[in-house]
Amino acid sequence: MFGRRPTPAKTDEQLLLMRRAGLLVGQTLELLSSRVEAGLTTLDLDALAEEFIRSHGAVPNFQLVPGYAHTLCTSVNDEVVHGIPGHRVLQDGDLLSIDCGAQLDGWNGDAARSLIVGPVGVLDQHGPERSEDLELVTATEDALWAGIVALEVGERLYAVGEAVEASVQGASARRGRDYGIIEEYVGHGIGRSMHEDPQIPNYAVRDRGPTVRSGFTGAIEPMVTLGSAQTRVLDDDWTVVTADGSRAAHWEHSVAVTDNGLCVLTAVDGGRSRLEASGAAYLPLD
Ligand code: MG
Ligand code: MG
Repeated sequence: MFGRRPTPAKTDEQLLLMRRAGLLVGQTLELLSSRVEAGLTTLDLDALAEEFIRSHGAVPNFQLVPGYAHTLCTSVNDEVVHGIPGHRVLQDGDLLSIDCGAQLDGWNGDAARSLIVGPVGVLDQHGPERSEDLELVTATEDALWAGIVALEVGERLYAVGEAVEASVQGASARRGRDYGIIEEYVGHGIGRSMHEDPQIPNYAVRDRGPTVRSGFTGAIEPMVTLGSAQTRVLDDDWTVVTADGSRAAHWEHSVAVTDNGLCVLTAVDGGRSRLEASGAAYLPLD
């Protein structure tokens, strides 16, 4: 598992197909983000996502996971990942993480984002606690991008986790906090299947992992908490919550790594703005 063998790689044609699947996932998350408001249930969001994905000729790939019937995972407040959409009514100030995937023409995209429910200004109404939540959301998104730009052909894959961890530690120091990084759930390769080898830890590990080949496609997905990194699974056998009840954020993108640069497959702009801002080479695949 920890050998020096290189990562898998896709052909140029396959990368174009993966971009189409990833773009649809990114567009679905954009749609959901624009529609989220207090009073909706997480099941409402799930229905909206399923309709959008199917209307584009794709399949909600979470439904291909044995035992799972939904299009999204919706994790609220102390829920970290794998929250099941249901009749929970969203409230202003909730910290909502939406994880979404789609399979188009046999290729998969997988992405997640966190946001605070409510109109602009809701943070003021809900006081400093919600500001802490927004800082957590931003720290987690920044950690994702730090992990993405650590992807480079010829480098070791687990540089991703080192970069994620360094980014979270930097945010902790700036905020005077001690954010927790979840270790029980990790990123992964992606392609014909949503989950392919190798796993990609979102934290530093002793081994540095396989060497990244041009054409590698993987999902990077840090989960960060305001408290402990310990989790437990609820009786529904899916929903992962923090052991100490602290709130958590989750950001994920599927990314292609090539000799000619990176393409963030599930970002609507392909990652161009964030990649260029950090000096990383951007490869358009549209
Ligand atoms: Mg996901
Ligand atoms: Mg994933």
